[in-house]
Amino acid sequence: MSGPGPVLVRPPVDGPAGAVFTTRAGGVSEGPFASCNLGWGQGDTPEAVRANRVAVCAAAGLDPARVAVGRQVHGTEVVPVERPAVEGGFAAALDGWPDGDGLVTATPGTGLAVLGADCLPILLWRRDVPQVAAVHSGWRGLADGVIERAVAALGDPTRTGAAVGPGIGPCCYEVGEEVRARFAARFGPSPLRGRHLDLAAAARAALAGAGVPPTAVWVLETCTRCDDGRWFSYRRDGAATGRHAGIVWPAVSASTP
Ligand SMILES: [Zn+2]
Repeated sequence: MSGPGPVLVRPPVDGPAGAVFTTRAGGVSEGPFASCNLGWGQGDTPEAVRANRVAVCAAAGLDPARVAVGRQVHGTEVVPVERPAVEGGFAAALDGWPDGDGLVTATPGTGLAVLGADCLPILLWRRDVPQVAAVHSGWRGLADGVIERAVAALGDPTRTGAAVGPGIGPCCYEVGEEVRARFAARFGPSPLRGRHLDLAAAARAALAGAGVPPTAVWVLETCTRCDDGRWFSYRRDGAATGRHAGIVWPAVSASTP
């Protein structure tokens, strides 16, 4: 492997948990998947995806055999995870994962990964106990309540923190009138910018509505479509593009998050 390895963004986590967002930098994939593509099924080679997944886990201090991911279907299921459902975990198993746009675990050292290329990866943790959740959310999951369900699965919104990762920004995300109407009905006018939708603002509203204190929510201010040096973007590059990830895990020991 060449170069210094995957470039990660580490949100501030005020609890017994760890969290990272990957970028597209520092991997081994080529062409439209350059370079740190973690997604499978868009056309990259299995060798490259596996190498990137191994490298990301190493950089985050995780055992890839203990990292789970779900098949993302824009749903609202939040699936409890004790260990990865597929033998070998994140780096070995590219498919065969059960559906799950939301994953939750209280098993220290078990990582939960969600993939994105415009949709938001959202990472959640309890600030008092080692318990975490990961959510993949585009407009549909947001409108249907996947964030609220993940917060509820963690049990105590007032002791929950959240990091909202890279997604398509309001600068680039024009949506149809029906989608705008659904968001206005659910969240009021705050996530709407004319014909454009601000997914991160909607995520903030969903988290606040679920009882998470606004001061416990961190948002990575970026736009996947605008910043092609850091992010993959379906709207910019079409179907043949990669996926970056958010990964969250309960700390193995409360004293060493
Ligand atoms: Zn943009």
